[in-house]
Amino acid sequence: MGHRVLITARSFRKVRGEHWDLLEGEGCDVVNSPYDRPLTEAEMLDLVGGVHGAVVGMDEVTTRVIQASTDFKVIAKHGVGVDNIDLAAATAAGVVVTNTPEANKVAVAELTIALMLALARRLVKQHQVVSGGGWARQMGTELAGKTLGLIGCGRIGHEVAKRVRILEMEVVFYDQYTLEVSGARQVSLDELLTWSDYVSVHVPHTLETHHILDAEAFAKMKDGVYVINTARGGTVDETALYEAIVAGKVAGAALDVRPKEPPSPDDPLNTLENVILTPHAGATTREAVLRMAKTATESLLAVLRGERPTNVVNPEVYAK
Ligand code: NAD
Repeated sequence: MGHRVLITARSFRKVRGEHWDLLEGEGCDVVNSPYDRPLTEAEMLDLVGGVHGAVVGMDEVTTRVIQASTDFKVIAKHGVGVDNIDLAAATAAGVVVTNTPEANKVAVAELTIALMLALARRLVKQHQVVSGGGWARQMGTELAGKTLGLIGCGRIGHEVAKRVRILEMEVVFYDQYTLEVSGARQVSLDELLTWSDYVSVHVPHTLETHHILDAEAFAKMKDGVYVINTARGGTVDETALYEAIVAGKVAGAALDVRPKEPPSPDDPLNTLENVILTPHAGATTREAVLRMAKTATESLLAVLRGERPTNVVNPEVYAK
């Protein structure tokens, strides 16, 4: 019998592609998650026994989950953000964690731009009016000539910056580690907040970036600013965002990611017509899913074969 591999990443399971051939070719004993959503710690614990490797999405990969299988060698994230995986526990247990950094950058960048255009032209509202039998036009604004502020300008930020140039937007960015982006100007966070007509978040969620957009940050922004978050829910204080929208400071917001996913059906942001909400769908394009699935599978199989894959998130595991 080959290696036992748990697959919890939903889009990985749903899409047919080379990743399944690779797993089959290696003779893996595949355990599929029975759930159509990210798994809780308890659900992961039920499935993880005797597993050598796992391909995970946004599931709760806690210390207990990592320690539940003594055979665990690799956790391959089907995506970029690894804030749902206890990296310290994985390293301590000798488990290699990998991700798929290049695979979904175009998909997330394109969603970011789609959300900016949808906010500017009130697309969701216009659709609701017409599909409800009405014909009243909504006044929009143009992106041309406006300033886009990118908080974090790594792989996804770069792709957004590259694409909005054709829309004739000015691009400024704030990033603690990336210093140069072609066609975009590096500024301080305060300058970005003060100057931007659109503020789009592209940093990972860490202790440093938690609530990087809070009440104080919204107060510094231009009146009528638009806010887009396709990074992680924890980077935006949503209570402060709600208040800034109701106060008219923020003209609209588009959120693909939320502090708690899925959010409560009673979430106050659901009631605002100038808010567009998507279900963490940034990377959900056929192309990105196939790329992520192939990369995650190749990394997983490399570790199981005793090789070192390229996208290791916790390289210190090899120093042990
Ligand atoms: P990346 O690592 O290439 O870029 C992140 C950038 O943030 C880097 O340039 C880094 O220097 C910067 N940064 C980190 N900490 C910072 C701080 N404290 N202050 C300022 N800048 C800081 O990652 P990426 O591929 O561009 O992805 C960005 C984030 O988008 C991911 O971490 C992930 O959480 C999120 N994401 C969401 C989806 C989705 O489906 N919506 C898909 C992929 C990624």
